[in-house]
Amino acid sequence: MFRSFAEAFVAAAFGLLPAISLTHLARAALAGPVAAGTLWKCLALVAAGFAFSHLLHMHATGYAHGIEFAFRRDLRARILRHLGLLPLGWHNKESSGRMRTLVAEDATKIHTIIAHLGPDLGMAVGVPLLGLIYLFTQSWLFALVMLAWIIATLIFFVLTNTVTNTGLAADFMDAEKDLTASTVELSDGIATVKAFGNDGAQYGRFEEALSRYTGLSYEFMKTTGTPAAILMALLSPAAMLLPLGVGGFFLIRAGLIEPVILVPFVLVGISLTTGLSNVTSIMYLLMQGRDAAARIQEVLDEPELEEPALAHPIERSTAGGVELRFEEVSFRYGKDGALALNGVTATIPAGTVTAVVGPSGSGKSTLVRLLARFWDTDGGVVRVGGQDVRDIATTDLLSTVGIVLQEGGIINDTVRANICLSKPSASQAEVERAAQAALIHDRILELPQGYDTVSGNEGAHLSGGEAQRVALARVFLADSPVILLDEATAQADPHSERHIQEALANLSRGRTVVVIAHRLATVQDVDQILVLDGGRLVEAGTHAQLVQAGGTYQQMWEAQQ
Ligand code: ADP
Repeated sequence: MFRSFAEAFVAAAFGLLPAISLTHLARAALAGPVAAGTLWKCLALVAAGFAFSHLLHMHATGYAHGIEFAFRRDLRARILRHLGLLPLGWHNKESSGRMRTLVAEDATKIHTIIAHLGPDLGMAVGVPLLGLIYLFTQSWLFALVMLAWIIATLIFFVLTNTVTNTGLAADFMDAEKDLTASTVELSDGIATVKAFGNDGAQYGRFEEALSRYTGLSYEFMKTTGTPAAILMALLSPAAMLLPLGVGGFFLIRAGLIEPVILVPFVLVGISLTTGLSNVTSIMYLLMQGRDAAARIQEVLDEPELEEPALAHPIERSTAGGVELRFEEVSFRYGKDGALALNGVTATIPAGTVTAVVGPSGSGKSTLVRLLARFWDTDGGVVRVGGQDVRDIATTDLLSTVGIVLQEGGIINDTVRANICLSKPSASQAEVERAAQAALIHDRILELPQGYDTVSGNEGAHLSGGEAQRVALARVFLADSPVILLDEATAQADPHSERHIQEALANLSRGRTVVVIAHRLATVQDVDQILVLDGGRLVEAGTHAQLVQAGGTYQQMWEAQQ
């Protein structure tokens, strides 16, 4: 930025050359006939000054743009690297819309600051400063008149600039963000909104954001638009003719300056403020850039998941699988939220299948996600293979624990790429074996392009249960000794459900499996059932034991029957 500023400043100096040589020529012409040599020399200087000034300014701008492109690329890479090191729980709460805005749009909004501020400011400072110095050497009195005019304009500029700096501009940008956020929210939930919001009430937040934005746009333009328009007029070359014409007329009539002095003053003076008008026209973009930079900084400041100074390896049991333990685990979302988990102690032996059940909001997802260190606990210890999860290297933990979320976690790529996510080097045979184990191979072959079908594309829709089986194939390929599965609730199709059960049975041999179960019918044969209620572990045992125990589980069972 400094370099482009300096180059533009030098460009401003070259820009004076035509005026200087034409003044010289005018003086020579007034003194008598001009030799052809002098004429050509002057014209050559005019051409050189003009060419160098433009070439240098172009180079300064191009250079700053090159820097900005490289910077933007690094910034995006840095944001993505940082996002990769944030706790999984952070991603859970942040909308993908906000991340998209950050990486795609905010990184671009910084453009004006880096690519334009240097070269534009170099001209905005260089042209009036060097121009006035030159004019002072010609006539200090006339130059003083020009200086006074420019200072008056600058005072107006500062006054109107305080207008753009008021809370109104901040409110306006805030309303803009709010509108984007509510649009994303609305389009994400459009199916629900259409199904339940026929009276339009569900559009409330969007409507509100839209009218706030519209109101503030009008307000913003009304307050800042008029002074900005006046300022642009004052900075235009035409407006400069006013002090030049009026000042020159009176000074010449009073005999204070020679008429030939008008030549350099008109040539230089007319464009003294064009640089300034460039800067004022990018003011709003600069403000937006500063705002975007602050948003990016906020995410970059999010603390990354702390890696252990000395990573402990995870112990695998000889029977296969890894033992999981919760010791007095308490957890709350945010600093002053209610306890989502309250003193949970439980052991999940290696190589067994455990189901976690309980009413909605009882803490099932939270408990299971703590095993993959989505967040750190507020009290107690979560152990995977005997080690506190905080003492395990993240890569080790995540390659041990395979996670299958409700919606499967399907990325917008081919089915093969989705399965290979856990092992990019896998061969086609390995991928197919995994898909067969997850009982999804035949279904994949029915897709328009088989394994090369991009999921979500026309005619290639995978149901919730099928997406989960693709995710199971992924976990199978990774050969993770621990599998965490959040049973899909959205699909009540018994056929698909039976497939998942069978796939899970294939997968669970020699592995430790934890299933969040929403339908008790699916967990009758598991080794252990943990029953949560209000964040506490209220019961544990097998289906046969619990169904007789007369507690929460029995009530849930009877209700579901
Ligand atoms: P379940 O899986 O049994 O439905 P959860 O583990 O999702 O229950 O939630 C347990 C409690 O924590 C609930 O009261 C829920 O409202 C709260 N909770 C879950 N996720 C979040 C979150 N990201 N931020 C704040 N509170 C949350």
